[in-house]
Amino acid sequence: MRYVQIDTQSNPLSDSHPTTEKQKDLSKLLVQELQAMGVGDAAMGEWGYVYATIPSNTEKQVPVICFCAHVDTAPDASGTGVKPILHKNYNGEDIVLPDDRTQVLRKGDFPYLERLIGHDIITASGTTLLGSDDKAGVAAIMDAAAFLMTHPEVKHGIIKLLFTPDEEVGKGTAKVDMQKLGADFGYTLDGGEAGSLEDETFSADGVTLTIHGVITHPGYAKGKLVNALKIAGDVLASLPRAELSPETTEGKQGFIHPVRVDGIAEKATIEFIIRDFLTDNLKKKEDFLLSIVEMVMDNYPTATFDFVVKEQYRNMKEVLDQYPQVVEYAKEAIERSGLKLKMESIRGGTDGSRLSFMGLPCPNLFAGEQAIHSKLEFISVQDMNKAVETIVRLAEIWEERS
Ligand SMILES: [Zn+2]
Repeated sequence: MRYVQIDTQSNPLSDSHPTTEKQKDLSKLLVQELQAMGVGDAAMGEWGYVYATIPSNTEKQVPVICFCAHVDTAPDASGTGVKPILHKNYNGEDIVLPDDRTQVLRKGDFPYLERLIGHDIITASGTTLLGSDDKAGVAAIMDAAAFLMTHPEVKHGIIKLLFTPDEEVGKGTAKVDMQKLGADFGYTLDGGEAGSLEDETFSADGVTLTIHGVITHPGYAKGKLVNALKIAGDVLASLPRAELSPETTEGKQGFIHPVRVDGIAEKATIEFIIRDFLTDNLKKKEDFLLSIVEMVMDNYPTATFDFVVKEQYRNMKEVLDQYPQVVEYAKEAIERSGLKLKMESIRGGTDGSRLSFMGLPCPNLFAGEQAIHSKLEFISVQDMNKAVETIVRLAEIWEERS
C-alpha cells in the first residue's frame, strides 16, 4: 500500500530513459529498504534499474536465479494520488469505490472475486488505477528478500533482484545490464491469479505496407490518377473478418491486425501487427497478407507497393524448452505453496520474453494482480502472500536440486 502511493507512471511519448523521472522515486526507496535489510550491494544504476544480491548460504554450486518486477504503472489510467483501501474479510458483496461511486466491483463482472471470499482485498478509491501491476510483484520480491535475509535455515544459492522501469511502454529491458545482473535464470512476478505460471507468449512481427499511387492534377486526371488512399481502403476491406482478427480469435489462435493508417492520395501506409504462438506461422500469415495485397494491386497496374516485415519479439517458450528445469521448478514451488497450478499463455509479449532472448530464460509467475490498468484494479493480500511463499520455495528447490 506504501508503494502504490508513489506515482511511477511511465510515458509512451518520452524518449528518455527512464521515460519519467518519477519512477526513480520508488526505485530509490527500494534501494533504501534493501540496504536496511542488509542487502549491501543494492543500488540504482543510471537508467533507473535497481540491482541487488542476496548472498548464497549454501556450500553447493547453485545457478544464480533472478526475481524481477517492474516499478512503473500503465498510462491507461491515472497513477497520481493513488489512495489504496484495504477491505478486510471480503464477504462477496459489491464493493463501491468511494471517490467515484459509479466504480463498482461486482462478482458478476469479475468471477475471480468468488475465490477471494474471506480474503483481504486492496482496491484504489475510484479515480486512479491501483498499480498492483506491478507493485504487487515488487512487494512480493521485497518481502521474500526480507524473509530470506532473516531465515538462514532456508538454504539457497545467490539470488539476484531486478526492478525495472518502463515495462508498460515496452522499454523495460532497453537499458538492462545483463553482465551486471549476472544471473543464469529468471522469473518475472507480474501475473494474475494465484497459482498461475506463464511460459508462453506470442511471437510477433510488424508489417509496413506502403502503397505508391499515381498522382496528377485532379482536374486533368482521367485515366491517369491512381489514388493510394483508395487502394489502402481496398486492402483493409479485403482482410478476413470472421477469422485471423484480434476480435475473432482467442486461446492459441494468431491474427493479422492493422493498427495504423497514414497517407495522402499519392502515398499511403498501413501498419500491421502479426501474432502467433508459432514463429513459423508468422511467415504463413505474412504470405497470406501479401497475397491479399497482390490481389488488390492487380486492379491498379500502374501503382506499386513495398511490403516490409520487421521482427518484434519471439515466444519465450522457444528458449524455455531448452532449460525445462526453469519451468519445472516453478511448477513445483507453486504446488509446495499449496496452490493449484494453472499454466497460461500470454496473448502478448512480456519483459520475460525479451529477457529470455537476451540470455535470461524467464517465465512469469503470478503476483495476484486483477483487472489491471483500470480503476477497478484489485488484489488479495492472501494471494500476494502466496507469491512470496512461491519465491521462497523456488529458491529452496534450486538449492535442493543442485
Ligand atoms: Zn505488468
